[in-house]
Amino acid sequence: MIETDVLIVGAGPAGLAAAIALKRGARQMGGGAAAPRVIVLDKGRRVGSHVLSGAIIDPSGFNGLLTDEEIAKLPIEAHVVKESFRTILGRKCSVKVPWVPPLMSSKGYPVGSLTKVVQYLGGIAEREGVEIYTGYAVTELVEKDGVVIGARTGEKGLDKTGAKKSNYLPSEEIRAKTTVLAEGGSGILTERLIVAKGLQGVRPQTYALAIKELIEVPAGTQTAGEVMHTFGWPSDLMTYGGGFVYHVSETQVMVGYAYALDYARADADPFELFRKFKSSGAVSAHFKGGKTVAYGAKVIPEGGFYSVPKVQAKGVLIVGDGAGLLDSLRIKGVHIALQSGKAAAESILSGKDYAELLQQTPAWSEIKRVRNVRASFHYGVPFGIAAAGLAWLTKGAIPWFRVPGLDEGDAAATKKVSRVRKPEKFEPGPTMPDRLTDVFMSGTMHEENQPCHLKIMDSAKCEECRAQFGAPCTRFCPAEVYRMEDGNLEIDFSNCLHCKTCRIKCPMSNIDWTFPQGGDGPRYTRM
Ligand SMILES: Cc1cc2nc3c(=O)[nH]c(=O)nc-3n(C[C@H](O)[C@H](O)[C@H](O)COP(=O)(O)OP(=O)(O)OC[C@H]3O[C@@H](n4cnc5c(N)ncnc54)[C@H](O)[C@@H]3O)c2cc1C
Ligand code: SF4
Ligand code: SF4
Repeated sequence: MIETDVLIVGAGPAGLAAAIALKRGARQMGGGAAAPRVIVLDKGRRVGSHVLSGAIIDPSGFNGLLTDEEIAKLPIEAHVVKESFRTILGRKCSVKVPWVPPLMSSKGYPVGSLTKVVQYLGGIAEREGVEIYTGYAVTELVEKDGVVIGARTGEKGLDKTGAKKSNYLPSEEIRAKTTVLAEGGSGILTERLIVAKGLQGVRPQTYALAIKELIEVPAGTQTAGEVMHTFGWPSDLMTYGGGFVYHVSETQVMVGYAYALDYARADADPFELFRKFKSSGAVSAHFKGGKTVAYGAKVIPEGGFYSVPKVQAKGVLIVGDGAGLLDSLRIKGVHIALQSGKAAAESILSGKDYAELLQQTPAWSEIKRVRNVRASFHYGVPFGIAAAGLAWLTKGAIPWFRVPGLDEGDAAATKKVSRVRKPEKFEPGPTMPDRLTDVFMSGTMHEENQPCHLKIMDSAKCEECRAQFGAPCTRFCPAEVYRMEDGNLEIDFSNCLHCKTCRIKCPMSNIDWTFPQGGDGPRYTRM
């Protein structure tokens, strides 16, 4: 058993901000107090391996966390110099919105790979004395008398039957005075804790699946720092969805598409929608002559203010996306993750209430201002756009009521289908890889001889689901993990990108997403 002052689960921006702020805050407090021991564990092979984002980063998150010199050295090649907003109406038709909605403007912000940014933060944390161990999935919290007193890592080296192999490593218990959960969206331990302690927000969390590629383009054809946000086609008028194209350097373009998981059509296929989005003339113009070189997918918690749970229980604090702390209008969460990490550190060091400190951050006001926007999209995109405009005009004061909707959760929003539409065929090309080619580019890898981490709880429910919904897991998974073969559901767990869509969107809530052995999963290097 290992003992520490603070255990942080997850080395994303939220977890690393908490770690850095703990060490720096303790030093500033001085008074001879011993610096707390801080341990950070992450299931990725390296820091950043499981982190995927846009990312245009609101730099306010770094204030008070990093020095000016450290901010200047962030591994970012471009700042937003040209920003546009476009409604896509079809493959050949799109309209540029004459101005960028003020709430969404990010002129001058850094734009680049979040994987690289968290690797940089990890380096700073280690220099401050934080101990970071990667390749360790934290699989359960440890409690005593209703107080969280630490956590346990998963075993490694089990074969597919669960028997120990020669390289077996047992699970390790880490006792901590405080545990900080920084697992990101749909965190397993976080959600278990929320249910066990009754910490739920006003309404259930709702997610979008975001799919992203990095495309390399010939030098001299594009402008670093040019960004485009889109909404409209191929999403229908009832589903919240949109895309982005970010030129993060002169030769690299990030192209992404997010599709809200409260979509109704069971035969929707977000990966195919992503390809359709890329086939639009307004989008493909940004990567002419290019080649896709990296791929990934992850869920975004979009519920906003009303879906934020109580962020603490005895012995444990929840930070970042795990607590749903994301501006769902701007789809920006990095600065909020950083601010929540800092607030958690201050609370641990000073004994002040974490929820109160969080509510004093600018991020909290930002989430509150757009509190009704995401729910308004439940009534269709035009209504949602009107609500977004109203939020800007009134700084969130009107409508003051809680817009109803989104109360059923994403799985229950799925409607039955009598016939599953065939997906559109695309000419394969350097910027139009198929799903498995894309998965290869994510670098995802799992030891094959281990227990499958995706557990079907009741196979009879799958039969029912096939008849009513046409087995949507065979479409919503962006990594082709689920396949129907001779009438049976086959699971290729080694392709899994850890995006968590299946545990959210299976209409029968029939998939238990457990942890594969630590270190397995995607190996993002520039997402
Ligand atoms: C496609 C896409 C585009 C986005 N664009 C933007 C943008 O432009 N600007 C912006 O500000 N935000 C954007 N976001 C949102 C932003 O990425 C998140 O808000 C932010 O990354 C949240 O940080 P976090 O530290 O809470 O979680 P994460 O970044 O998700 O990090 C969580 C970490 O915890 C680890 N982990 C999870 N569970 C465990 C466990 N049990 N044991 C061990 N390790 C664990 C994971 O491996 C991961 O490293 C985007 C998100 C996506 C998906
Ligand atoms: S796993 Fe879920 S989505 Fe897939 S067939 Fe079974 S019940 Fe349906
Ligand atoms: S199996 Fe589930 S978590 Fe893994 S990539 Fe597919 S949908 Fe995402």
